[in-house]
Amino acid sequence: MLSNRLGGPGRSDDRADDGVRDTNDDAQLSKLSCVRLGYFQDSFVHHFVRRPTRRSPLINRGYYSRYAALRSLLLQFLALGLSRPAKDTPSGAFQSQQGAAGPKDSAADQVPQPAQQLEAGSRKPEPQSQQQQQAQQRQAAPGKRQVLVLGAGYDTTFFQLAKEGVQADKYVELDFKQVTAKKAAAIQQVPELLACIGGQQAVGSIDPGEGRVLTERYCLLPVDLRDLEQLKAALQEAGLDPAAPTYVLSECVLVYLQPQHSQQLVRWLAEHLQCAAMAVYEQIQPDDAFGRQMLLNLESRGCALLGIEATPTLDAQQRRFTSCGWHRADAHTMQHVYSDCIDPADRRRIERLEMFDEFEEWHLIQQHYCIAVGIKDRTGLLDRFGLPHYAAQPFVPPAVPAALHLPPRFTT
Ligand code: SAH
Repeated sequence: MLSNRLGGPGRSDDRADDGVRDTNDDAQLSKLSCVRLGYFQDSFVHHFVRRPTRRSPLINRGYYSRYAALRSLLLQFLALGLSRPAKDTPSGAFQSQQGAAGPKDSAADQVPQPAQQLEAGSRKPEPQSQQQQQAQQRQAAPGKRQVLVLGAGYDTTFFQLAKEGVQADKYVELDFKQVTAKKAAAIQQVPELLACIGGQQAVGSIDPGEGRVLTERYCLLPVDLRDLEQLKAALQEAGLDPAAPTYVLSECVLVYLQPQHSQQLVRWLAEHLQCAAMAVYEQIQPDDAFGRQMLLNLESRGCALLGIEATPTLDAQQRRFTSCGWHRADAHTMQHVYSDCIDPADRRRIERLEMFDEFEEWHLIQQHYCIAVGIKDRTGLLDRFGLPHYAAQPFVPPAVPAALHLPPRFTT
């Protein structure tokens, strides 16, 4: 199964992937910096950071925007079909009802509409009568909710949500074995983490040597995402039900893969999962001065963005989904997401946390990251799923010079 081709699946043990794996440490460091300054709450990320460091306001704000938007999407997915918001949502950014499939109530009517204008050229669900749709929605809504995190690294979302009483029926995390082994060991050793997967009873489900945790609800498995056979085997072992609604997250992961590997992954997920939403957060716009500098910085740190030339724009991000079998897709720059898709009250709160004067760099960085969402769904459950839209006026990006340089530590 392993191949020795350059960049192929067999190279997961090679130093070529070390740089990419290191971006995981960097991401957790930045998340902890945000947590310590009050941008958002996370009671577990400190277990995965050896030497906490305060990051710059620019980086903290960037991580906050990524966190707020992605967390609101996940919570929205988990609440689909519920008549009340998921419990104890952390930031207030969560728009609980907008994706709800059930009958509208007044609370649902008050929430912002999804920002998405789903790509017109994509395959649309076949027309159905309202009654047919509602019947399907009623069937789908009370069912399972699954989450699949690609390249999860040491991400602590599962643990934080468990603490807040928000649970998926199945939560599967995948990463290289070098990463899952350390995460599994931490889960075994840290009582607070262990408690979230069932405490002492779950100890037998953890194999740090193999980088595996297999409980009914939470699974952590070693997979090289470039190897579809590994992926298929892992999802089968985890018991991910292809018929149940599934939220797939790729946060700074696909862009590190060669385009043929990310495409085969995105295509296979569309073939395999019957009802799914997939969120991709990653870099775009490699071709302007700032983008070129961003690529150079990352290459010099051994984590080249191998996939960015194939998905350099919002359109290309959408097309990756629709050309790989997803029914529709939507993509926005993080600049747009920050202005339009994050709860303004929470944004005002975090903007008071630190002095901030690097506005030009801020806008440039945010223009070079995006969130793309793909939907595959014929049940109607995900009809209104997407980033919320708060602003009354259409988003107009501010003009900024393109010659600024990235701060040296800015990676994921
Ligand atoms: N999603 C996490 C970690 C991002 S860092 C977060 O946002 O906090 C990127 C992660 O993707 C790393 O943990 C890295 O090991 C993983 N990754 C990159 N390429 C991979 C591959 N081919 N197979 C499995 N994991 C991969």
